Amino acid sequence: MPKSGDALEKFYIATAIPYVNAPPHIGHALEFVQADVIARYRRLLGEEVYLATGADENSLKNALAAEKLGISTEELCLRNSEAFKVLVDSMGISYSAFIRTSIKGDHWKTAQDLWSLCNKNGDIYKKKYKGLYCVGCELFYTENELVDGLCPEHKTKPELVEEENYFFRLSKYQNMLEQLLTSFKIKVTPHFRGNEALGFIKAGLEDFSVSRSVKRAHGWGIPVPGDESQIMYVWFDALAYYLTAAFFSVDEKRFRSLWPVDLHVIGKGITRFHALYWPAMLLSAGLETPKEILVHGYITVEGQKISKSLGNVIDPAALLKKYTSDEIRYYLIRDIPSFDDGDFSEKSLIDRVNKELLGDLGNLVNRVLTLAEKSGLKEFRGNSELESGIDIGSVQERFSNLELHEALERIMEFVRKCNAYVNSKEPWKLQGQELESVLYNLLESIRIAAILLFPFIPTTSLKISKMLDFEIKGISDCRFRDSFTGKITRQGYLFRKIE
Ligand SMILES: [Zn+2]
Repeated sequence: MPKSGDALEKFYIATAIPYVNAPPHIGHALEFVQADVIARYRRLLGEEVYLATGADENSLKNALAAEKLGISTEELCLRNSEAFKVLVDSMGISYSAFIRTSIKGDHWKTAQDLWSLCNKNGDIYKKKYKGLYCVGCELFYTENELVDGLCPEHKTKPELVEEENYFFRLSKYQNMLEQLLTSFKIKVTPHFRGNEALGFIKAGLEDFSVSRSVKRAHGWGIPVPGDESQIMYVWFDALAYYLTAAFFSVDEKRFRSLWPVDLHVIGKGITRFHALYWPAMLLSAGLETPKEILVHGYITVEGQKISKSLGNVIDPAALLKKYTSDEIRYYLIRDIPSFDDGDFSEKSLIDRVNKELLGDLGNLVNRVLTLAEKSGLKEFRGNSELESGIDIGSVQERFSNLELHEALERIMEFVRKCNAYVNSKEPWKLQGQELESVLYNLLESIRIAAILLFPFIPTTSLKISKMLDFEIKGISDCRFRDSFTGKITRQGYLFRKIE
């Protein structure tokens, strides 16, 4: 925690911005929740957290999807971006900025300013080019990167493109990037993803195309400064969103207070853009590179890859009609390991809610509050017997390693220990000092568990804090106090059984 009088430590965290050629799926929800859990945790540490998210609208994919639907690209972007905005709002994502990249204004100026800085540094040049392009990835592939002639990500045949484009001198930054990654000045978590990025560097970095003709772009996107015949490559524009959200072109003082990005939260498919292209662009523009990149895996559904043709796309909006945002948030972090692929199954979601949220947490709070109310006491004192049941340092260590599922597991282990304590002490048989001491232990434990659970299930934690009459302020409150005082009021149940 900062000492009084010190400026708050800042923490700038950002999700990637999803393409909005289709409505959100469960994988997007996972990324938003991971970023939000980290953001809320850092706030509990007393940091000034800035969480950015948004929608990547200048993709060629959006123009093509709109043409298919017979609507304007603007309309498609508005419609789908709105669905993303509704999702982040209803999942309780505590974002500071939601950037839509097709809105002319700050973002266009920022992307063009970034371009001009790279250009001024001699890193943008024009050349005739022929290459194999996957629209799905918005990426040129070399022959040997393809699998049986198909895009490894989309299993589709890339399009042969031949035109004059602007290129970014990525090759110039090869050694600098290698140095940044090996010295962990840019830390990629998990480590093996960093090694993947280093593998790309060792294979040799080639300059990449950063524009396309207006015709190939279907007239959609941000024009190249000084050349109206070319549209900026969507990745150049999308990556610039991290600067836009930080007020790069509009408020220098605020920008200086936010930059650099402390943590990017991204999916494994876009590691090379964030660990290589993006830092190189920043180096070229004379800006600081990000400190850390968290790379999460993909979600499979009942063991199968999510795909439209399999009809197994999980719509988070539909889930939100059946389950609370806390239930979904809890399930996503608990069941999907932070660094790897994970499987979504509605049955597991229901099991987790019934067994852990309702059975462990809800049950504990319900039992203890009933006993505490019945006791008629206003202040509870005793020997802190349960304090050793949780190692706050170890929970914090998992958080700083970004092992969110591990942090959550340790907190829930504590909740189970508290239930076991109730069972062994049988407080309903106790009276006087003995009863008071057991309740003191349980009330203090619930208070601490609620603070630690706040990043994961904020609505539930706030409910508990109201019932027990305390405020959720910071991790430093996670120790046993001399007594528990607070007006205890039960307000219904925290969870209901899902059939
Ligand atoms: Zn692809």
